[in-house]
Amino acid sequence: MENQLYDVIIVGRGPVGLFLACELRLTGLSVLVVERRSSSEGVAETRAFVVHCRTLEILAFRGLLGKFLQEGTKSPWWHYGVLDTRLDFSRFGHETKQNFVLLSPQFRTEEIFLERAKELGVDIVLGIRVESVEPSTTSVTIYGTSSSPDGGARSSFKARGKYLVGADGVRSTIRKATGFEFPGTPATHTGLTGEATLGVPMPYPYIAKNEAGLVIAVQLNIPSGRARLNVFTPARANVPDSTPVTLEDFNEALQEVTGVDYKLSNPCMLGRFNNEARCVDTYRKGRIFLAGDAGHQHLPAGGQGLNVGIQEATNLGWKLGAVIRGYAPDSLLDTYETERLPIAQGVVQSTTAQSVLFFAHSGPELAIRSVVNTLLKIPTANHDIAVGVSGFGVSYPKLLDMILPAGWEALPEAIAGKRALDVKLRVGNGEEKQLSDYMRGGKWVQLRFLDKLAGRPPLPAFEGATEVVDVAEVLEGKGSMYRGALSELLIRPDGYLGFGKR
Ligand SMILES: Cc1cc2nc3c(=O)[nH]c(=O)nc-3n(C[C@H](O)[C@H](O)[C@H](O)COP(=O)(O)OP(=O)(O)OC[C@H]3O[C@@H](n4cnc5c(N)ncnc54)[C@H](O)[C@@H]3O)c2cc1C
Repeated sequence: MENQLYDVIIVGRGPVGLFLACELRLTGLSVLVVERRSSSEGVAETRAFVVHCRTLEILAFRGLLGKFLQEGTKSPWWHYGVLDTRLDFSRFGHETKQNFVLLSPQFRTEEIFLERAKELGVDIVLGIRVESVEPSTTSVTIYGTSSSPDGGARSSFKARGKYLVGADGVRSTIRKATGFEFPGTPATHTGLTGEATLGVPMPYPYIAKNEAGLVIAVQLNIPSGRARLNVFTPARANVPDSTPVTLEDFNEALQEVTGVDYKLSNPCMLGRFNNEARCVDTYRKGRIFLAGDAGHQHLPAGGQGLNVGIQEATNLGWKLGAVIRGYAPDSLLDTYETERLPIAQGVVQSTTAQSVLFFAHSGPELAIRSVVNTLLKIPTANHDIAVGVSGFGVSYPKLLDMILPAGWEALPEAIAGKRALDVKLRVGNGEEKQLSDYMRGGKWVQLRFLDKLAGRPPLPAFEGATEVVDVAEVLEGKGSMYRGALSELLIRPDGYLGFGKR
Protein backbone atom coordinates (compact mmCIF):
# COMPACT_ATOMS: atom_id res chain seq x y z
CA MET A 1 0.00 0.00 0.00
CA GLU A 2 2.89 2.34 0.81
CA ASN A 3 4.04 2.12 -2.80
CA GLN A 4 0.64 2.53 -4.40
CA LEU A 5 -0.43 5.96 -5.65
CA TYR A 6 -4.20 6.10 -5.09
CA ASP A 7 -6.32 8.47 -7.12
CA VAL A 8 -8.03 9.66 -3.94
CA ILE A 9 -7.44 9.03 -0.23
CA ILE A 10 -10.32 9.75 2.12
CA VAL A 11 -9.66 10.13 5.83
CA GLY A 12 -12.75 9.09 7.81
CA ARG A 13 -15.07 6.13 7.36
CA GLY A 14 -18.15 8.01 8.55
CA PRO A 15 -21.23 8.22 6.33
CA VAL A 16 -19.76 11.03 4.23
CA GLY A 17 -16.39 9.38 3.65
CA LEU A 18 -18.06 6.10 2.72
CA PHE A 19 -20.58 7.65 0.36
CA LEU A 20 -17.88 9.71 -1.33
CA ALA A 21 -15.75 6.59 -1.73
CA CYS A 22 -18.66 4.89 -3.53
CA GLU A 23 -19.18 7.89 -5.81
CA LEU A 24 -15.50 7.92 -6.71
CA ARG A 25 -15.44 4.20 -7.47
CA LEU A 26 -18.39 4.67 -9.82
CA THR A 27 -16.16 6.94 -11.90
CA GLY A 28 -13.47 4.24 -11.96
CA LEU A 29 -10.97 5.85 -9.57
CA SER A 30 -8.82 3.94 -7.08
CA VAL A 31 -9.86 4.91 -3.54
CA LEU A 32 -8.40 4.34 -0.09
CA VAL A 33 -10.41 5.11 3.05
CA VAL A 34 -8.40 5.42 6.28
CA GLU A 35 -10.28 5.21 9.57
CA ARG A 36 -9.18 5.67 13.16
CA ARG A 37 -11.70 3.29 14.66
CA SER A 38 -10.77 -0.39 14.59
CA SER A 39 -13.20 -2.98 13.26
CA SER A 40 -13.97 -4.21 16.76
CA GLU A 41 -15.39 -0.78 17.62
CA GLY A 42 -17.78 -1.30 14.70
CA VAL A 43 -20.42 1.13 13.57
CA ALA A 44 -22.85 1.48 16.42
CA GLU A 45 -23.98 5.07 16.64
CA THR A 46 -27.55 6.11 16.03
CA ARG A 47 -26.48 9.84 16.24
CA ALA A 48 -28.23 11.06 13.08
CA PHE A 49 -31.61 9.57 12.37
CA VAL A 50 -33.46 12.02 10.08
CA VAL A 51 -32.88 11.39 6.38
CA HIS A 52 -34.34 14.22 4.32
CA CYS A 53 -36.16 14.22 0.97
CA ARG A 54 -33.27 15.21 -1.29
CA THR A 55 -30.96 12.65 0.31
CA LEU A 56 -33.66 10.04 -0.29
CA GLU A 57 -33.78 11.08 -3.96
CA ILE A 58 -29.99 10.75 -4.21
CA LEU A 59 -30.21 7.30 -2.62
CA ALA A 60 -32.91 6.38 -5.17
CA PHE A 61 -30.65 7.58 -7.98
CA ARG A 62 -27.92 5.23 -6.76
CA GLY A 63 -30.26 2.28 -6.22
CA LEU A 64 -29.85 2.31 -2.43
CA LEU A 65 -33.22 3.65 -1.33
CA GLY A 66 -34.88 0.25 -1.06
CA LYS A 67 -32.46 -0.83 1.68
CA PHE A 68 -33.24 2.30 3.69
CA LEU A 69 -37.00 1.90 3.28
CA GLN A 70 -36.88 -1.72 4.48
CA GLU A 71 -36.14 -0.71 8.05
CA GLY A 72 -36.70 3.04 8.33
CA THR A 73 -39.90 4.73 9.47
CA LYS A 74 -41.54 7.32 7.22
CA SER A 75 -42.86 10.56 8.64
CA PRO A 76 -44.67 13.13 6.46
CA TRP A 77 -43.60 15.91 8.84
CA TRP A 78 -40.69 16.94 10.98
CA HIS A 79 -40.12 19.75 13.44
CA TYR A 80 -38.42 23.10 12.98
CA GLY A 81 -36.92 24.44 16.19
CA VAL A 82 -39.29 22.15 18.14
CA LEU A 83 -42.21 24.42 17.26
CA ASP A 84 -45.73 23.04 17.55
CA THR A 85 -46.37 23.77 13.87
CA ARG A 86 -44.49 21.07 11.99
CA LEU A 87 -42.89 21.27 8.56
CA ASP A 88 -45.14 19.45 6.12
CA PHE A 89 -43.15 17.46 3.56
CA SER A 90 -46.20 15.66 2.17
CA ARG A 91 -46.88 18.77 0.08
CA PHE A 92 -43.98 17.82 -2.18
CA GLY A 93 -46.07 14.88 -3.38
CA HIS A 94 -46.79 16.40 -6.80
CA GLU A 95 -43.10 16.33 -7.75
CA THR A 96 -41.45 13.46 -5.85
CA LYS A 97 -42.17 10.08 -4.31
CA GLN A 98 -39.77 11.07 -1.52
CA ASN A 99 -42.24 13.45 0.16
CA PHE A 100 -41.40 12.40 3.72
CA VAL A 101 -38.46 12.16 6.07
CA LEU A 102 -37.12 8.72 6.90
CA LEU A 103 -36.19 7.95 10.49
CA SER A 104 -33.24 5.60 10.23
CA PRO A 105 -30.27 5.25 12.59
CA GLN A 106 -26.89 6.52 11.44
CA PHE A 107 -25.26 3.14 11.99
CA ARG A 108 -27.67 1.62 9.46
CA THR A 109 -26.74 4.33 6.94
CA GLU A 110 -23.08 3.53 7.50
CA GLU A 111 -23.69 -0.22 7.21
CA ILE A 112 -25.44 0.21 3.86
CA PHE A 113 -22.70 2.50 2.54
CA LEU A 114 -19.98 0.18 3.83
CA GLU A 115 -21.52 -2.83 2.11
CA ARG A 116 -21.75 -0.82 -1.11
CA ALA A 117 -18.17 0.43 -0.77
CA LYS A 118 -16.93 -3.14 -0.42
CA GLU A 119 -18.96 -4.27 -3.46
CA LEU A 120 -17.44 -1.43 -5.48
CA GLY A 121 -13.88 -2.30 -4.45
CA VAL A 122 -12.97 0.56 -2.12
CA ASP A 123 -9.82 -0.18 -0.08
CA ILE A 124 -10.48 0.46 3.62
CA VAL A 125 -7.86 0.52 6.37
CA LEU A 126 -9.09 0.54 9.96
CA GLY A 127 -7.36 1.38 13.21
CA ILE A 128 -5.14 4.12 11.76
CA ARG A 129 -5.15 7.59 13.22
CA VAL A 130 -3.94 10.01 10.55
CA GLU A 131 -1.71 12.60 12.17
CA SER A 132 -0.04 14.63 9.46
CA VAL A 133 -0.25 15.50 5.81
CA GLU A 134 2.47 16.36 3.30
CA PRO A 135 1.26 17.84 0.01
CA SER A 136 3.45 18.07 -3.09
CA THR A 137 2.68 19.44 -6.54
CA THR A 138 1.54 16.05 -7.82
CA SER A 139 0.24 14.15 -4.79
CA VAL A 140 -0.52 14.19 -1.07
CA THR A 141 1.08 11.87 1.50
CA ILE A 142 -0.60 11.08 4.81
CA TYR A 143 1.14 9.74 7.90
CA GLY A 144 -0.51 8.00 10.80
CA THR A 145 -0.08 5.42 13.51
CA SER A 146 -1.87 2.26 14.45
CA SER A 147 -2.06 0.53 17.80
CA SER A 148 -1.91 -3.21 17.88
CA PRO A 149 -5.27 -4.70 18.97
CA ASP A 150 -3.79 -5.80 22.32
CA GLY A 151 -2.71 -2.24 23.09
CA GLY A 152 0.91 -3.05 22.33
CA ALA A 153 3.46 -1.21 20.21
CA ARG A 154 2.32 1.43 17.76
CA SER A 155 3.32 1.09 14.15
CA SER A 156 3.56 3.83 11.59
CA PHE A 157 1.44 4.15 8.48
CA LYS A 158 1.96 6.05 5.26
CA ALA A 159 -0.12 6.34 2.07
CA ARG A 160 -0.08 8.55 -1.01
CA GLY A 161 -2.88 9.80 -3.22
CA LYS A 162 -3.27 12.25 -6.09
CA TYR A 163 -5.94 13.97 -3.99
CA LEU A 164 -6.93 13.86 -0.33
CA VAL A 165 -10.36 14.41 1.20
CA GLY A 166 -10.75 15.05 4.91
CA ALA A 167 -14.09 13.50 5.88
CA ASP A 168 -12.90 13.08 9.44
CA GLY A 169 -15.66 14.84 11.32
CA VAL A 170 -15.99 17.97 13.40
CA ARG A 171 -12.57 17.70 15.04
CA SER A 172 -10.95 17.04 11.67
CA THR A 173 -7.22 16.40 11.81
CA ILE A 174 -6.96 17.13 8.09
CA ARG A 175 -8.58 20.53 8.55
CA LYS A 176 -6.22 21.43 11.38
CA ALA A 177 -3.08 19.91 9.87
CA THR A 178 -3.51 21.73 6.58
CA GLY A 179 -4.41 25.17 7.92
CA PHE A 180 -8.09 25.56 7.09
CA GLU A 181 -9.70 28.28 9.21
CA PHE A 182 -12.86 27.27 11.11
CA PRO A 183 -14.48 30.54 12.12
CA GLY A 184 -17.74 30.72 14.05
CA THR A 185 -19.26 31.06 17.48
CA PRO A 186 -18.69 28.97 20.61
CA ALA A 187 -21.40 26.93 22.30
CA THR A 188 -23.79 28.82 24.56
CA HIS A 189 -26.05 25.88 25.48
CA THR A 190 -25.63 22.15 25.92
CA GLY A 191 -28.26 19.42 26.02
CA LEU A 192 -28.30 15.69 26.76
CA THR A 193 -28.29 13.02 24.10
CA GLY A 194 -28.20 9.24 24.18
CA GLU A 195 -30.07 5.97 24.00
CA ALA A 196 -31.86 4.06 26.74
CA THR A 197 -34.59 1.51 27.31
CA LEU A 198 -37.81 2.99 28.61
CA GLY A 199 -39.67 1.30 31.46
CA VAL A 200 -42.88 3.15 30.58
CA PRO A 201 -44.33 3.44 27.02
CA MET A 202 -43.84 6.79 25.28
CA PRO A 203 -45.84 8.16 22.32
CA TYR A 204 -43.28 8.33 19.45
CA PRO A 205 -42.03 10.49 17.97
CA TYR A 206 -42.22 12.60 21.13
CA ILE A 207 -41.24 16.16 20.26
CA ALA A 208 -42.20 18.77 22.80
CA LYS A 209 -41.08 22.01 24.41
CA ASN A 210 -42.37 23.73 27.50
CA GLU A 211 -41.05 25.99 30.25
CA ALA A 212 -39.11 23.05 31.75
CA GLY A 213 -37.15 22.37 28.54
CA LEU A 214 -37.49 20.21 25.45
CA VAL A 215 -37.44 16.58 24.40
CA ILE A 216 -37.02 14.92 21.03
CA ALA A 217 -37.44 11.15 21.28
CA VAL A 218 -37.84 8.50 18.63
CA GLN A 219 -38.02 4.74 18.64
CA LEU A 220 -35.85 3.52 15.81
CA ASN A 221 -36.10 0.05 14.44
CA ILE A 222 -32.89 -1.15 16.15
CA PRO A 223 -32.12 -4.55 17.68
CA SER A 224 -31.47 -3.19 21.18
CA GLY A 225 -34.99 -1.70 21.31
CA ARG A 226 -33.59 1.41 22.96
CA ALA A 227 -35.15 4.83 22.33
CA ARG A 228 -33.10 7.73 20.94
CA LEU A 229 -33.44 10.71 23.26
CA ASN A 230 -32.38 14.35 23.13
CA VAL A 231 -33.30 16.40 26.18
CA PHE A 232 -32.61 20.00 27.12
CA THR A 233 -33.34 21.79 30.37
CA PRO A 234 -32.28 25.37 31.16
CA ALA A 235 -30.78 24.20 34.47
CA ARG A 236 -28.27 22.04 32.59
CA ALA A 237 -27.66 24.49 29.72
CA ASN A 238 -24.23 25.56 30.90
CA VAL A 239 -22.81 22.19 31.84
CA PRO A 240 -19.62 21.73 29.75
CA ASP A 241 -19.61 19.09 27.02
CA SER A 242 -16.86 17.21 28.79
CA THR A 243 -18.92 16.56 31.95
CA PRO A 244 -20.04 12.90 31.92
CA VAL A 245 -23.79 12.26 31.79
CA THR A 246 -25.26 9.87 34.34
CA LEU A 247 -28.36 7.79 33.73
CA GLU A 248 -29.95 9.26 36.87
CA ASP A 249 -29.49 12.81 35.63
CA PHE A 250 -30.79 11.89 32.17
CA ASN A 251 -33.87 10.28 33.71
CA GLU A 252 -34.44 13.30 35.92
CA ALA A 253 -34.12 15.76 33.03
CA LEU A 254 -36.59 13.74 30.96
CA GLN A 255 -39.02 13.65 33.86
CA GLU A 256 -38.71 17.40 34.43
CA VAL A 257 -39.76 18.08 30.81
CA THR A 258 -42.38 15.34 30.33
CA GLY A 259 -43.72 15.01 33.86
CA VAL A 260 -43.31 11.23 33.58
CA ASP A 261 -40.71 8.97 35.18
CA TYR A 262 -39.82 6.84 32.16
CA LYS A 263 -37.59 4.61 34.31
CA LEU A 264 -34.64 4.67 31.90
CA SER A 265 -32.26 1.72 31.93
CA ASN A 266 -29.68 0.04 29.72
CA PRO A 267 -28.12 3.34 28.55
CA CYS A 268 -25.81 3.73 25.60
CA MET A 269 -23.79 6.66 24.22
CA LEU A 270 -24.93 9.15 26.83
CA GLY A 271 -23.36 12.49 26.00
CA ARG A 272 -24.06 16.15 25.32
CA PHE A 273 -24.86 18.13 22.17
CA ASN A 274 -24.33 21.86 21.82
CA ASN A 275 -24.91 24.82 19.54
CA GLU A 276 -21.32 25.64 18.59
CA ALA A 277 -21.59 26.98 15.04
CA ARG A 278 -18.68 27.06 12.60
CA CYS A 279 -17.97 26.78 8.90
CA VAL A 280 -14.75 26.78 6.95
CA ASP A 281 -14.27 29.65 4.50
CA THR A 282 -12.83 27.44 1.79
CA TYR A 283 -13.30 23.78 0.86
CA ARG A 284 -10.07 23.34 -1.02
CA LYS A 285 -6.38 23.83 -0.53
CA GLY A 286 -4.63 22.59 -3.65
CA ARG A 287 -5.07 18.82 -3.72
CA ILE A 288 -6.85 18.69 -0.37
CA PHE A 289 -10.62 18.96 0.12
CA LEU A 290 -12.95 18.80 3.10
CA ALA A 291 -16.39 17.15 3.15
CA GLY A 292 -19.07 16.60 5.77
CA ASP A 293 -18.68 17.65 9.39
CA ALA A 294 -15.00 18.39 8.79
CA GLY A 295 -16.18 21.59 7.10
CA HIS A 296 -19.12 22.60 9.27
CA GLN A 297 -20.42 22.30 12.79
CA HIS A 298 -23.80 23.34 14.14
CA LEU A 299 -26.64 22.44 16.46
CA PRO A 300 -28.03 19.04 15.39
CA ALA A 301 -31.43 20.64 14.78
CA GLY A 302 -33.92 19.24 12.32
CA GLY A 303 -31.46 16.63 11.04
CA GLN A 304 -29.11 18.46 8.70
CA GLY A 305 -25.43 17.51 9.08
CA LEU A 306 -25.40 14.06 7.56
CA ASN A 307 -27.79 15.07 4.81
CA VAL A 308 -25.67 18.02 3.77
CA GLY A 309 -22.53 15.89 3.91
CA ILE A 310 -24.03 13.30 1.54
CA GLN A 311 -24.92 16.07 -0.89
CA GLU A 312 -21.35 17.36 -0.69
CA ALA A 313 -19.99 13.89 -1.44
CA THR A 314 -22.33 13.62 -4.43
CA ASN A 315 -21.11 16.99 -5.73
CA LEU A 316 -17.40 16.33 -5.23
CA GLY A 317 -17.28 12.70 -6.37
CA TRP A 318 -18.03 13.08 -10.07
CA LYS A 319 -15.88 16.21 -10.32
CA LEU A 320 -12.80 14.42 -8.99
CA GLY A 321 -13.63 11.59 -11.39
CA ALA A 322 -13.88 13.96 -14.35
CA VAL A 323 -10.61 15.73 -13.58
CA ILE A 324 -8.56 12.63 -12.76
CA ARG A 325 -9.90 10.75 -15.77
CA GLY A 326 -8.96 13.73 -17.89
CA TYR A 327 -12.20 14.97 -19.40
CA ALA A 328 -12.36 18.15 -17.30
CA PRO A 329 -9.82 20.80 -16.32
CA ASP A 330 -8.71 21.32 -12.72
CA SER A 331 -10.91 24.43 -12.45
CA LEU A 332 -13.97 22.14 -12.26
CA LEU A 333 -12.79 21.20 -8.77
CA ASP A 334 -13.10 24.84 -7.65
CA THR A 335 -16.83 24.64 -8.35
CA TYR A 336 -17.19 22.20 -5.44
CA GLU A 337 -16.61 25.19 -3.19
CA THR A 338 -18.59 27.73 -5.20
CA GLU A 339 -21.58 25.40 -5.35
CA ARG A 340 -21.49 23.88 -1.87
CA LEU A 341 -19.97 26.40 0.52
CA PRO A 342 -22.95 28.81 0.39
CA ILE A 343 -25.22 25.86 1.19
CA ALA A 344 -23.13 24.82 4.20
CA GLN A 345 -23.14 28.43 5.39
CA GLY A 346 -26.92 28.50 4.94
CA VAL A 347 -27.29 25.37 7.07
CA VAL A 348 -25.19 26.90 9.83
CA GLN A 349 -27.39 30.00 9.65
CA SER A 350 -30.65 28.03 9.68
CA THR A 351 -29.57 25.86 12.62
CA THR A 352 -28.38 28.97 14.47
CA ALA A 353 -31.88 30.41 14.04
CA GLN A 354 -33.31 27.13 15.31
CA SER A 355 -30.95 27.35 18.25
CA VAL A 356 -32.80 30.50 19.39
CA LEU A 357 -36.09 28.60 19.07
CA PHE A 358 -34.69 25.48 20.78
CA PHE A 359 -33.32 27.16 23.84
CA ALA A 360 -35.88 29.99 24.16
CA HIS A 361 -36.57 30.54 27.81
CA SER A 362 -37.03 34.25 28.44
CA GLY A 363 -39.89 36.57 27.40
CA PRO A 364 -38.38 37.96 24.16
CA GLU A 365 -37.15 34.55 22.98
CA LEU A 366 -40.52 32.95 23.69
CA ALA A 367 -42.15 35.80 21.76
CA ILE A 368 -39.96 34.96 18.74
CA ARG A 369 -41.03 31.30 19.05
CA SER A 370 -44.65 32.31 19.08
CA VAL A 371 -44.29 34.52 15.98
CA VAL A 372 -42.35 31.91 13.98
CA ASN A 373 -44.86 29.27 15.01
CA THR A 374 -47.67 31.44 13.62
CA LEU A 375 -45.73 32.11 10.42
CA LEU A 376 -45.28 28.38 9.80
CA LYS A 377 -49.08 28.03 9.73
CA ILE A 378 -49.03 30.00 6.46
CA PRO A 379 -48.75 27.26 3.81
CA THR A 380 -46.29 29.15 1.59
CA ALA A 381 -44.02 29.99 4.55
CA ASN A 382 -44.15 26.38 5.76
CA HIS A 383 -43.39 25.22 2.23
CA ASP A 384 -40.43 27.58 1.81
CA ILE A 385 -38.78 26.49 5.05
CA ALA A 386 -39.48 22.83 4.23
CA VAL A 387 -37.87 23.32 0.81
CA GLY A 388 -34.71 24.58 2.53
CA VAL A 389 -34.54 21.88 5.19
CA SER A 390 -35.35 19.04 2.77
CA GLY A 391 -32.49 19.93 0.42
CA PHE A 392 -34.96 20.67 -2.39
CA GLY A 393 -33.88 24.31 -2.35
CA VAL A 394 -30.47 23.42 -3.75
CA SER A 395 -29.73 24.30 -7.37
CA TYR A 396 -26.55 25.02 -9.28
CA PRO A 397 -27.53 27.65 -11.85
CA LYS A 398 -24.04 28.91 -12.74
CA LEU A 399 -22.94 27.41 -16.03
CA LEU A 400 -19.98 25.02 -15.75
CA ASP A 401 -18.50 26.53 -18.89
CA MET A 402 -15.12 24.84 -18.38
CA ILE A 403 -16.74 21.53 -19.33
CA LEU A 404 -19.41 22.70 -21.79
CA PRO A 405 -19.25 20.05 -24.54
CA ALA A 406 -19.15 21.17 -28.19
CA GLY A 407 -22.63 21.72 -29.58
CA TRP A 408 -24.23 22.10 -26.16
CA GLU A 409 -25.44 25.31 -24.50
CA ALA A 410 -26.67 26.78 -21.24
CA LEU A 411 -30.20 25.81 -20.21
CA PRO A 412 -32.98 28.40 -20.02
CA GLU A 413 -32.77 30.33 -16.74
CA ALA A 414 -36.00 28.79 -15.42
CA ILE A 415 -34.48 25.31 -15.28
CA ALA A 416 -30.69 25.87 -15.26
CA GLY A 417 -29.08 23.83 -12.49
CA LYS A 418 -32.40 22.66 -10.99
CA ARG A 419 -32.58 19.21 -9.46
CA ALA A 420 -33.62 16.55 -11.94
CA LEU A 421 -37.02 15.14 -11.02
CA ASP A 422 -37.24 11.37 -11.13
CA VAL A 423 -39.81 11.33 -13.94
CA LYS A 424 -41.25 8.32 -15.69
CA LEU A 425 -40.16 8.04 -19.32
CA ARG A 426 -41.24 6.00 -22.30
CA VAL A 427 -37.90 5.18 -23.86
CA GLY A 428 -37.00 4.40 -27.45
CA ASN A 429 -37.89 0.68 -27.33
CA GLY A 430 -41.34 1.45 -25.86
CA GLU A 431 -40.50 0.43 -22.27
CA GLU A 432 -41.48 2.58 -19.29
CA LYS A 433 -38.53 3.60 -17.12
CA GLN A 434 -37.76 6.01 -14.30
CA LEU A 435 -34.98 8.53 -14.76
CA SER A 436 -33.35 6.99 -11.67
CA ASP A 437 -32.93 3.72 -13.60
CA TYR A 438 -30.22 5.50 -15.57
CA MET A 439 -28.55 7.33 -12.67
CA ARG A 440 -27.22 4.24 -10.83
CA GLY A 441 -23.80 4.25 -12.45
CA GLY A 442 -23.01 7.86 -11.51
CA LYS A 443 -22.68 8.94 -15.15
CA TRP A 444 -24.04 11.92 -17.03
CA VAL A 445 -27.50 11.09 -18.40
CA GLN A 446 -28.14 12.40 -21.88
CA LEU A 447 -31.85 12.43 -22.72
CA ARG A 448 -32.57 12.55 -26.45
CA PHE A 449 -36.14 13.58 -27.24
CA LEU A 450 -36.82 11.56 -30.34
CA ASP A 451 -39.55 13.79 -31.79
CA LYS A 452 -37.16 16.76 -31.91
CA LEU A 453 -34.03 15.07 -33.22
CA ALA A 454 -34.92 14.65 -36.88
CA GLY A 455 -32.90 11.45 -37.02
CA ARG A 456 -29.75 12.95 -35.50
CA PRO A 457 -27.46 10.05 -34.41
CA PRO A 458 -26.45 9.68 -30.75
CA LEU A 459 -23.23 11.45 -29.79
CA PRO A 460 -22.34 10.99 -26.09
CA ALA A 461 -21.40 14.32 -24.51
CA PHE A 462 -18.59 12.83 -22.41
CA GLU A 463 -17.19 9.67 -23.97
CA GLY A 464 -17.19 6.81 -21.46
CA ALA A 465 -19.00 8.85 -18.80
CA THR A 466 -22.42 9.31 -20.38
CA GLU A 467 -25.56 7.19 -20.36
CA VAL A 468 -27.47 8.02 -23.54
CA VAL A 469 -31.25 7.52 -23.35
CA ASP A 470 -33.69 7.88 -26.24
CA VAL A 471 -36.95 9.32 -24.91
CA ALA A 472 -40.17 8.86 -26.82
CA GLU A 473 -42.33 10.52 -24.15
CA VAL A 474 -42.11 12.04 -20.66
CA LEU A 475 -44.99 10.24 -18.96
CA GLU A 476 -45.34 11.96 -15.60
CA GLY A 477 -43.91 14.62 -13.36
CA LYS A 478 -42.96 18.08 -14.46
CA GLY A 479 -42.54 17.13 -18.10
CA SER A 480 -41.90 20.73 -19.13
CA MET A 481 -38.59 20.63 -17.24
CA TYR A 482 -37.51 17.98 -19.70
CA ARG A 483 -38.91 19.44 -22.88
CA GLY A 484 -39.49 23.00 -23.96
CA ALA A 485 -37.55 23.68 -27.11
CA LEU A 486 -34.80 21.23 -26.23
CA SER A 487 -33.96 18.25 -28.38
CA GLU A 488 -31.42 16.89 -25.85
CA LEU A 489 -30.82 17.44 -22.14
CA LEU A 490 -27.72 16.56 -20.16
CA ILE A 491 -28.18 15.70 -16.49
CA ARG A 492 -25.14 15.90 -14.22
CA PRO A 493 -24.01 12.74 -12.39
CA ASP A 494 -25.20 14.32 -9.12
CA GLY A 495 -28.72 14.74 -10.48
CA TYR A 496 -28.92 18.40 -11.52
CA LEU A 497 -29.78 19.76 -14.96
CA GLY A 498 -26.55 20.65 -16.74
CA PHE A 499 -26.67 21.54 -20.44
CA GLY A 500 -29.13 21.51 -23.33
CA LYS A 501 -29.27 21.25 -27.11
CA ARG A 502 -31.90 22.75 -29.35
C1 LIG B 1 -27.07 14.20 18.79
C2 LIG B 1 -26.87 14.31 17.30
C3 LIG B 1 -27.95 14.10 16.45
C4 LIG B 1 -27.80 14.24 15.08
N1 LIG B 1 -28.88 14.03 14.26
C5 LIG B 1 -28.76 14.20 12.93
C6 LIG B 1 -29.85 13.91 12.04
O1 LIG B 1 -30.92 13.50 12.46
N2 LIG B 1 -29.67 14.08 10.70
C7 LIG B 1 -28.46 14.52 10.19
O2 LIG B 1 -28.36 14.72 8.97
N3 LIG B 1 -27.41 14.75 11.00
C8 LIG B 1 -27.52 14.59 12.34
N4 LIG B 1 -26.43 14.75 13.15
C9 LIG B 1 -25.13 15.07 12.54
C10 LIG B 1 -24.46 13.83 11.94
O3 LIG B 1 -24.29 12.85 12.95
C11 LIG B 1 -23.14 14.22 11.33
O4 LIG B 1 -23.37 15.31 10.46
C12 LIG B 1 -22.50 13.08 10.56
O5 LIG B 1 -22.05 12.06 11.41
C13 LIG B 1 -21.31 13.61 9.75
O6 LIG B 1 -20.70 12.56 9.07
P1 LIG B 1 -19.16 12.64 8.67
O7 LIG B 1 -18.90 11.40 7.90
O8 LIG B 1 -18.88 13.96 8.07
O9 LIG B 1 -18.38 12.66 10.04
P2 LIG B 1 -18.32 11.53 11.26
O10 LIG B 1 -19.60 10.79 11.25
O11 LIG B 1 -17.92 12.28 12.42
O12 LIG B 1 -17.20 10.56 10.74
C14 LIG B 1 -15.84 10.94 10.78
C15 LIG B 1 -14.99 9.69 10.82
O13 LIG B 1 -13.63 10.08 10.77
C16 LIG B 1 -12.88 9.29 11.69
N5 LIG B 1 -11.68 10.06 12.06
C17 LIG B 1 -11.62 11.20 12.77
N6 LIG B 1 -10.35 11.62 12.90
C18 LIG B 1 -9.58 10.72 12.25
C19 LIG B 1 -8.18 10.61 12.02
N7 LIG B 1 -7.31 11.51 12.49
N8 LIG B 1 -7.70 9.54 11.32
C20 LIG B 1 -8.57 8.62 10.83
N9 LIG B 1 -9.92 8.69 11.01
C21 LIG B 1 -10.42 9.72 11.70
C22 LIG B 1 -13.84 9.10 12.85
O14 LIG B 1 -13.48 7.99 13.64
C23 LIG B 1 -15.16 8.89 12.11
O15 LIG B 1 -15.40 7.55 11.81
C24 LIG B 1 -26.55 14.60 14.53
C25 LIG B 1 -25.45 14.79 15.38
C26 LIG B 1 -25.61 14.64 16.75
C27 LIG B 1 -24.41 14.87 17.64
